[in-house]
Amino acid sequence: MKRTGILFFPAFDWSLGDSHPEREERLLYTQEQLFEEGILDLPQIKQFSPRVAAIKDVLRAQALFPHPGTHLETLDPHLISAGSSLLLGEAQVKGDIHNGFVMARPPGHHSGATVWGNRGFCSLNNEGMLVNYLRAQFGIKRIAIVDTDVHHGDGTQDIFYHDPNVLFISLHQDGRTLFPGTGFVHEKGGPNAWDQTLNIPLPPGTGDEGYHYVLENWVLPRLQAFAPEMIINSAGQDNHFTDPLASMNLTAGGYGRITELLQPDLAVLEGGYSIEGALPYVNLAILLALAGEDYHHVREPQKQKRSSLTLTALKPYIQELQKQQQAAKQKFSIQNKAHFPKGNWFYSPHSVYYDTEGFQETRHDYIRECSHCGGTVYIESRRYTQKSILVRIPFQACPSCEQGGYDLWEHIQQSREDIISGLLQNQLQDRYYVWTKKEGLREY
Ligand SMILES: [Zn+2]
Ligand SMILES: [Zn+2]
Repeated sequence: MKRTGILFFPAFDWSLGDSHPEREERLLYTQEQLFEEGILDLPQIKQFSPRVAAIKDVLRAQALFPHPGTHLETLDPHLISAGSSLLLGEAQVKGDIHNGFVMARPPGHHSGATVWGNRGFCSLNNEGMLVNYLRAQFGIKRIAIVDTDVHHGDGTQDIFYHDPNVLFISLHQDGRTLFPGTGFVHEKGGPNAWDQTLNIPLPPGTGDEGYHYVLENWVLPRLQAFAPEMIINSAGQDNHFTDPLASMNLTAGGYGRITELLQPDLAVLEGGYSIEGALPYVNLAILLALAGEDYHHVREPQKQKRSSLTLTALKPYIQELQKQQQAAKQKFSIQNKAHFPKGNWFYSPHSVYYDTEGFQETRHDYIRECSHCGGTVYIESRRYTQKSILVRIPFQACPSCEQGGYDLWEHIQQSREDIISGLLQNQLQDRYYVWTKKEGLREY
């Protein structure tokens, strides 16, 4: 029998405030709905209990700056939410389940490669940790992530931007009209992973029909061409027509069809803030679609108030987007710093706004040009006057990119610059070293 795994973790004691949309009720109504519908009695459904991820699981995907210790007090619910993804991912890879749905909170897709705090309700990236866990533990090479949350999955994009073995696709409401204001078609990946990031910004008012059209005509062919060993769906539900934060027009049944089209091995809940009007029904439809059951009878109590963009209006818009996406060219300049190991280093600056706490992170990313692997990555990250460094030796690193990573790491610890801490993320050996000027070196 093809089993579908589900895991609930409502994080009762974690919220960003009693009336904040990211609070425990987000999943409690869903739980009631699933009980009521008798879903848990279906013979193919298998329930799992959450587990806690380790700091090492975080460091495989993300640097915690200035160092992990500064985050420990706030991370517990995030570590359980992420740990739940790892657990269900592992069950899928081992063949205990055919597919699964991680219904845990807090969400994670706005949390990037470097983390100074919470942004967009996210402190750790559940899918980022999951993908790197499965690659490190089970030797899986190629994974695709399709992010169907209404917001651009900017954190996930950041984590895999230089990774040629992860295809990241994000469909979202156009960043000119919604947080986080990114996710445009010209963002196509770093120089060694060009075209492994695909952003599809959709106009407000896109409904089921339009969304499915884009999936069938753009996303699915792209997925097929990449031929991943595994597909993960960042299943945000804030495209629903009742969502208070966004302006899309999808229904619960529309979400069922998205799941049916994508056939993800794992769906991981992201956002979705219409707590009573949408989440219980959307979650139910996704789960039924995963379990191979009919989802067409699932109806939310409210009726759609506004009409959706018609396919006639949307088609030319999408065709134009596709043209722009194909035409977008690389714009990386080469900047070799004096202490950089030999080779060409591409430079890519950007800044990240942390909306929860209201500060800016400034990033300077450098990537070693390589045609054999993803290339050594060197990231300088600043928050106010604090400067921390991430050095990444990627999965499947070639010998000279591996050596390049060690040389940079050596340099950082002896440097007289104002660097206060760093992480050596050695994905090749699955070893992670945190260094701080005050306390020296620690291995995870
Ligand atoms: Zn969202
Ligand atoms: Zn290389």
